[in-house]
Amino acid sequence: MSTLITLNDALKSLASYEEFEGVLNLDTLHLGPDTYTLVAPAQWHITLTNTGSAYLAQGRISADLSVDCARCTEAFTLSIDAEVFGYYLEEDADVEETGLDLDEDEFERIVEDKIDLSSVLKAALIYDLPMVPLHDEDCLGLCPTCGCNLNEQECSCQDEPQEDFSKNPFAVLKDFDFSGSENSDNQ
Ligand SMILES: [Zn+2]
Ligand SMILES: [Zn+2]
Repeated sequence: MSTLITLNDALKSLASYEEFEGVLNLDTLHLGPDTYTLVAPAQWHITLTNTGSAYLAQGRISADLSVDCARCTEAFTLSIDAEVFGYYLEEDADVEETGLDLDEDEFERIVEDKIDLSSVLKAALIYDLPMVPLHDEDCLGLCPTCGCNLNEQECSCQDEPQEDFSKNPFAVLKDFDFSGSENSDNQ
């Protein structure tokens, strides 16, 4: 597995550190209604530091992901270079004694001298994904009436608002003769 680090004796002495790199094999990431497909395995490199009470993994992960634009639905490739940050505690370490003020979901346990970076790497990528993926911030999207891609062609739908007008219930009342109905009530 390319996200697994085995702690060697050198790393077990205080303030020692070592650099690691590898790939994260992942097919897709999901965020809200969007599916991101990795074009190639994500590349990561981190420095693992022994802080005395914990191990700190710090570095970056980069990936190219294919996703559909939220406005025009065309697929495009998004490049991400995200910060990686994660704490790892020995199996029997007491969180309170580390002095790091970490909640249960802010660190992972070291199992049999092994650190698995996969979830921290995946979280780093997800954290960097946009709320709304756009192939271009100025993407014009699709015409809500005829469905054409407004980035590629112009349509005349917006020049003809009559169609929407007829769906307005008040448009019907416009031609209604109210005086006539009042007269019939009085009779
Ligand atoms: Zn677009
Ligand atoms: Zn149109």
